[in-house]
Amino acid sequence: MLSNLKPQDPDKILALMGEFKADTRQGKIDLGVGVYKDATGHTPIMRAVKAAEKRLQENETSKSYTVLVGEPAYRDAMAKMILGDLYAPERIATLATVGGTGALRQGFELARMASPDMRVFYSNPTWPNHTSILKWMGVETVPYRYFDDATRGVDFEGMKADLAQAKKGDVILLHGCCHNPTGANLTVAQWNEVADIVERTGATPMIDLAYQGFGDGLEEDAEGTRIIVKRIPEVLIAASCSKNFGIYRERSGILLALTSDPAARDLAQGAMAFLNRQTYSFPPDHGARIVTTILTDDALRADWKAELEEVRGGMLRLRANLASELRTLSGSNRFDFIEEHRGMFSRLGATPEQVKKIKDEFAIYLVGDSRLNIAGLNDESVPILARAIIDAGV
Ligand code: PMP
Repeated sequence: MLSNLKPQDPDKILALMGEFKADTRQGKIDLGVGVYKDATGHTPIMRAVKAAEKRLQENETSKSYTVLVGEPAYRDAMAKMILGDLYAPERIATLATVGGTGALRQGFELARMASPDMRVFYSNPTWPNHTSILKWMGVETVPYRYFDDATRGVDFEGMKADLAQAKKGDVILLHGCCHNPTGANLTVAQWNEVADIVERTGATPMIDLAYQGFGDGLEEDAEGTRIIVKRIPEVLIAASCSKNFGIYRERSGILLALTSDPAARDLAQGAMAFLNRQTYSFPPDHGARIVTTILTDDALRADWKAELEEVRGGMLRLRANLASELRTLSGSNRFDFIEEHRGMFSRLGATPEQVKKIKDEFAIYLVGDSRLNIAGLNDESVPILARAIIDAGV
């Protein structure tokens, strides 16, 4: 039976990781995979995470099953972090999930249970796993324009025109902040306009919030999400703790379903419990417990926020340095978009041939669509990358 299986295309980013590992050149630079790295190229465990783990090790008395939808304390703490003052438990159903990917998958499943013929509108480009999961689920997808190749900013007129085609029963998938793969983001005014369009179409927005705290700050990065939540009665939010808590392998995420009334909330909560039961039963707990320990302890929370700010500030500095280096080398400001982008990624707008040249001649690995991971840089590699970008003719 198993010999009937068809070979699967390898994930392009994971394949690039393998190619980088096999490269024997000295001084090779990995700007591919989306993991935060410090100046030494290491992905550290955050101080507050270590402290919380120590506390758990001393105080945890049982590893028995927890709650099918995840511990209430985790779901409350995360919902508050995402929604701020808009947190209203009577309106929100919540589900602890296996990372942000699990939240997206369960969110898509929930939406399809409620709207079997839904179409999902996604930004072009988007994180490839969005479309890959939806394709596997057999869900119809519709791209909306997002990135303007000329300005390397958002093609907002195109985006608005395409979103206007959505209708009730469809889902509009939005990146809450730090758009992956482009780094180009909506302004507050544009989020309000998106809310107008969503309202007019009657479609259900689903926000992927995988980088809260990596762009303009913990509160600022939630602003777009909160604008939508304030205006639209039903919203799905799939959030990840992988990046902002640096607990990638613990697989902690959350799905929030904001509903218009308590009866709908109860239905959504029941459907979420069902989905977890059918998929993997109880969600992983260790990462969720770390997050809860940090968010509910003033000192740990303050230390975590301070370290998150260091991480964010470091990436902004690298952006400014790279843009400045490119300003000097190119004698123009055509790379200033790198400084305006937010989050871990920027799309350079290089051709596949130029990306290949940068890899072959400079041993610098970018994703094929010219996405670069800013956090993969340090003070030494910034000028090397800038030189490679110019020499490749970008
Ligand atoms: N959404 C986006 C846009 C992402 O970039 C990622 C991580 N690469 C995720 C969701 C999921 O993250 P995880 O499953 O690792 O928590």
